[in-house]
Amino acid sequence: MNDAEEIKKRLNIVEVISGYVRLLPAGANKKALCPFHNEKSPSFTVNEEKQIFHCFGCGKGGDVFTFVQEMEGLGFREALKMLAERAGVELSGGDFKPRAGKKEAREVLKEALVFFEKTLTSPLGEEARAYLSFRKVSEKLIKEFRLGFAPAGWSGLTDYLASRGISAKEAEKSGLVLESPNRPGSFYDRFRARIMFPIFDGFDNPIGFSGRVLPGDDSKGGKYINTPQTDVYDKSQALYGLNLAKQKIKKKDFSLILEGNLDVVLSYKAGVKNAVASCGTAVTREQLKILRRYSNNVFFAFDNDEAGLKAAEKGLDLALEEGM
Ligand SMILES: [Zn+2]
Repeated sequence: MNDAEEIKKRLNIVEVISGYVRLLPAGANKKALCPFHNEKSPSFTVNEEKQIFHCFGCGKGGDVFTFVQEMEGLGFREALKMLAERAGVELSGGDFKPRAGKKEAREVLKEALVFFEKTLTSPLGEEARAYLSFRKVSEKLIKEFRLGFAPAGWSGLTDYLASRGISAKEAEKSGLVLESPNRPGSFYDRFRARIMFPIFDGFDNPIGFSGRVLPGDDSKGGKYINTPQTDVYDKSQALYGLNLAKQKIKKKDFSLILEGNLDVVLSYKAGVKNAVASCGTAVTREQLKILRRYSNNVFFAFDNDEAGLKAAEKGLDLALEEGM
């Protein structure tokens, strides 16, 4: 069995497609409004038994690879990589050799996400909840964006992970846990007393975090700190909110780049759901290339100050160079 066959065996096309469109039952099949052309009544069908899709409106059809290629604007090889990660298949052929730490790091990130969410709803998260509520971030939004809280202290996450059978050494690969420079073999949490904004890939898997200090706590490092470069997190390609925004970007045919994570959350609340933020960096060419999969049009809405104007100008230049 080759890689593609193995992946198809492990993934259900219905599950993959339902990550993009709302599928409704239609006899033995499922149907939806076609994501590839505009229509008012659904002519896009998915056949679970055969693991294929077909649109009677625009004629597009194929298997799970075709779907992801069309949807994400990827070549076959890239779609193969993306679905291999999702299926937990290690590709044997070609140039793709997943590093051993990658799968572990993904597991750590998933556990950490749950831990931060739980902590936010616990008594430890009281101050963070008060701040979010002050900023008009509702409980519904907290759930949708899966916001959390990293407790003060040095080992809340490290201890939790240990209780889940994950050693500090393994956890280090996720970028969430650090080894003490003075005491080798002793580890501590990178994010402490911070509101946690998880950053996801296109399949809603957490790849990293952005942590914001609580108000009045600005002495400890930056206002935001982010996951460092890891096997799964590449900041030049990470876009905050993309997992929730990408379908809207496609639909509205433009993306909106905002400065901060909280701006994205609040604009979502206001009904502007095609917004993303670059994760603590100036907008990069790679980020624009990702946005271009969904629409060629991009708008920048940055703060009206010197830094904001400069960043927007630089982003616009790059977008023009990319033909957007
Ligand atoms: Zn169609």
